[in-house]
Amino acid sequence: MDNKILVINCGSSTLKLAVFDEQSLDCTATGLAERLNHDDAVARIGQIDGDIPLPAGATHRQALEAMTTALADSGLLEGAPTAIGHRVVHGGENFREAALIDDEVLGAIDACASLAPLHNPVNLSGIESTRSLFPDVPNVAVFDTAYHQTLPPKAYLYAVPHSYYRDWGVRRYGFHGISHSYMLTEAARRLGKTPATTSIISAHLGNGCSIAAIRDGLSADTSMGLTPLEGLVMGSRSGDIDPGLFDYLKSKGIAQDELHHVLNHESGLLGLSGQTNDMRTLCELAEHGHEPSGVAIEVFCFRLARYIGAMMASLRHLDALVFTGGIGENSTRVRQQTLDNLKLLGFELDDELNRYGGEFSDGHIEGPGSRFPVLVIPTNEELVIAREAARLANASNGPQAPG
Ligand code: AMP
Repeated sequence: MDNKILVINCGSSTLKLAVFDEQSLDCTATGLAERLNHDDAVARIGQIDGDIPLPAGATHRQALEAMTTALADSGLLEGAPTAIGHRVVHGGENFREAALIDDEVLGAIDACASLAPLHNPVNLSGIESTRSLFPDVPNVAVFDTAYHQTLPPKAYLYAVPHSYYRDWGVRRYGFHGISHSYMLTEAARRLGKTPATTSIISAHLGNGCSIAAIRDGLSADTSMGLTPLEGLVMGSRSGDIDPGLFDYLKSKGIAQDELHHVLNHESGLLGLSGQTNDMRTLCELAEHGHEPSGVAIEVFCFRLARYIGAMMASLRHLDALVFTGGIGENSTRVRQQTLDNLKLLGFELDDELNRYGGEFSDGHIEGPGSRFPVLVIPTNEELVIAREAARLANASNGPQAPG
């Protein structure tokens, strides 16, 4: 029987799961449960035909139970996995790397819940579910914030009274660290360098968007802050705004709670276009002459270009600018329009390579005169989590699952 690693990623109403072979780290199965805690909860496994039956209002635990049973019934997960890796959004300042989960680690994740109220509690419920379903299997937490713990104070401190940081942990933490760290290892591999000597700017552009300056293998600056709201324009999140907006809109009758909701769920591409948070649809609308969609894309690309420029302040040299995430990997237009704003810095794309997203050029899309390589690299956060889970479970002397 092959040993498997199970990877779990719990969102507020979703559960993503992946099964990896422990030896080869090949992904052998993937699954997604959606609309959890709603009447129409549904789950699917990519390698199994049809939906996996779930009770109405299924919880994360019920979905996990149904999905792992379906995996077992179809021979995709025989017996217990050898390790389980969990994506955990916020590790605060407690975690600089992944951690083997014990009661102390659980307590520390719980303590960070006030910094990520939508994410950490649901991550914890995923961990509790797998611990009770597979009591003898080591669980590993892989944090979105951990990679950014190398940020220097000049990059993580807000210019507010220092006691806010000292007493309440108010600072920039950064997110998408799992994806940015994967960009580093993949870019280094493609450039024939070691990660420790590689410096890149990594732009993760999906529904959530962030950018990181990675200097000699370490995160040196990033665009997300205390929460994942700061920085770039995103699908429905505003990114940077003037905090004075809160006071001004209060005078217009918009309360803080309402504005908080608007900035997270009704802003970004959705707010600007008035149509959708989906970049692919926006590009189609813009091509058909829908002006607000074109403007939304322009704002998105300009903010991104500004941040690419800003990330240069943290680097001594740049080995590559890297695009990833659904937009970064797939949108020829966004990559082109962004770099059109950065001609002064010497970025130049090859139209043909960019059109194919570097598919036939090991990710390279830069033109011959470009001052820096530009790469498109598909992200693979699940693989990073599986790798970390296998590494820490093997290093531990804890109880192992029966083969
Ligand atoms: P993610 O969160 O990484 O899955 O990325 C989701 C975003 O990627 C959505 O805005 C999608 O519209 C966008 N996306 C996916 N494919 C394309 C494409 N071919 N062109 C433009 N945007 C795309």
